[in-house]
Amino acid sequence: MSNPSTTDNVVVVAVDGPAASGKSTVSRALARMLGYNYVDTGAMYRAITWKALEEGIDVEDPIAVIAMIHRIKITFEIVDHQARMLIDGFYPGDAVRKPHVTEKVSTIAAMPEVRHVLVQHQRSLTKLGSLVMEGRDIGTVVFPNTPYKFYLEASPEVRARRRKRDLEAMKIDASQEGVKESLQRRDKKDTGRSTSPLQIALGATVIENSNLSVEENAKVLLDHIRQQGQRRGSFGVGGA
Ligand code: C5P
Repeated sequence: MSNPSTTDNVVVVAVDGPAASGKSTVSRALARMLGYNYVDTGAMYRAITWKALEEGIDVEDPIAVIAMIHRIKITFEIVDHQARMLIDGFYPGDAVRKPHVTEKVSTIAAMPEVRHVLVQHQRSLTKLGSLVMEGRDIGTVVFPNTPYKFYLEASPEVRARRRKRDLEAMKIDASQEGVKESLQRRDKKDTGRSTSPLQIALGATVIENSNLSVEENAKVLLDHIRQQGQRRGSFGVGGA
């Protein structure tokens, strides 16, 4: 498939990074600033994991998971400039953020066939317009030709604090140490897998955001995009 990252006036901004590095909040804010759609690809891997667990499928068994992914119907809707993945017409919402899903998602995300299916869907979302897409392999695999690539990172302590706050907002209690260990386990699996491991994409701008607010961080990305667009002579704010 050709890479549609900057064709037909569609712009893709790729945001990658480890768990709880601020990708979701920053990408959502950036998408709002640009007037683009926001796509959380982690939510897609989580939704597949959630569905497998709901059905009592052994998530360690690639054959069972792959059979399921070919059986279900995956569709998308845009709500408030955000792409939502539906499985058989159902949007699982915050259920995909529960700890039992989080613990298994990296196992399912390491399966090449699962990635293949979801990457095709992710690329197809450009038909809905320009987007800010966040994940682990957006700048390396999904849209490697986009000139707008970012890699966010933050210290393990800051990341654990952020994730603990997210969990508390969902009324889920967890110790700071437990959260930190869970993040480390997931990062290890995500960087160590053989298919599309988490890594800094060629040409990506790396941003350490431990001391940045969401707005500040989104503004740093926006300034980079504007500067790069001016150099390329192809990017007007909010457009291609
Ligand atoms: O971003 P989030 O932490 O919600 O992602 C959940 C998991 O989904 C990651 O730990 C990773 O295993 C997987 N993932 C992935 N590729 C992406 C996005 C997420 O493998 N593009």
